[in-house]
Amino acid sequence: SLSECCDYPIIKILILGDHAVGKTSLMLRFINDHFSENHLNTLGIDFKAKNIKHKEHDFQLQIWDSAGQERFKNITRTYYRRSSAIIIAFDSTSVKSFENVQNWIADISTEVDNKVPLAIAATKCDIECPENVIKGKNLAKEIRLKYFKTSSKIDKNIQELFWYLIRESIRLK
Ligand code: GDP
Ligand code: MG
Repeated sequence: SLSECCDYPIIKILILGDHAVGKTSLMLRFINDHFSENHLNTLGIDFKAKNIKHKEHDFQLQIWDSAGQERFKNITRTYYRRSSAIIIAFDSTSVKSFENVQNWIADISTEVDNKVPLAIAATKCDIECPENVIKGKNLAKEIRLKYFKTSSKIDKNIQELFWYLIRESIRLK
């Protein structure tokens, strides 16, 4: 369900995934249409907001960006239940981050019911990485989640990813 802020319903999208997979970059590309080559240190959890319109209705979109490191997991976990939708991101150039997608999903499922819209995002798809991208596609198909091959750097599938979850959040509210 969507809570209210400033007369607008709030949509909260949480981004999960290992350290350095590109979570902050996804948020900054969608909110500010900006990309940085530097790793931007995320401490614990943080959010950025943007007012959006869907079918003539106003919403406040909040993108919640988590740190991904083990020592912040307990903080992050308290945000699962407050999320309208969740992105599980992995770096398509990193096997380890892909393998952890299943751990993130298992972690979410202990806290939220299965009505919360989820999507898997392969990041950094401006770099050649066919093998992990295909593994991601197969996994998403197997567990029936939407899958997006994204690049924050070249702005690929970022709108598609976020707007899919915005529409699902509104539909299920
Ligand atoms: P986070 O720890 O998951 O928040 O990761 P960041 O968003 O800080 O990104 C980690 C590193 O990956 C940074 O050096 C980014 O510039 C880089 N990065 C993020 N997204 C992309 C992308 O789409 N393509 C490429 N080539 N690099 C990216
Ligand atoms: Mg970050």
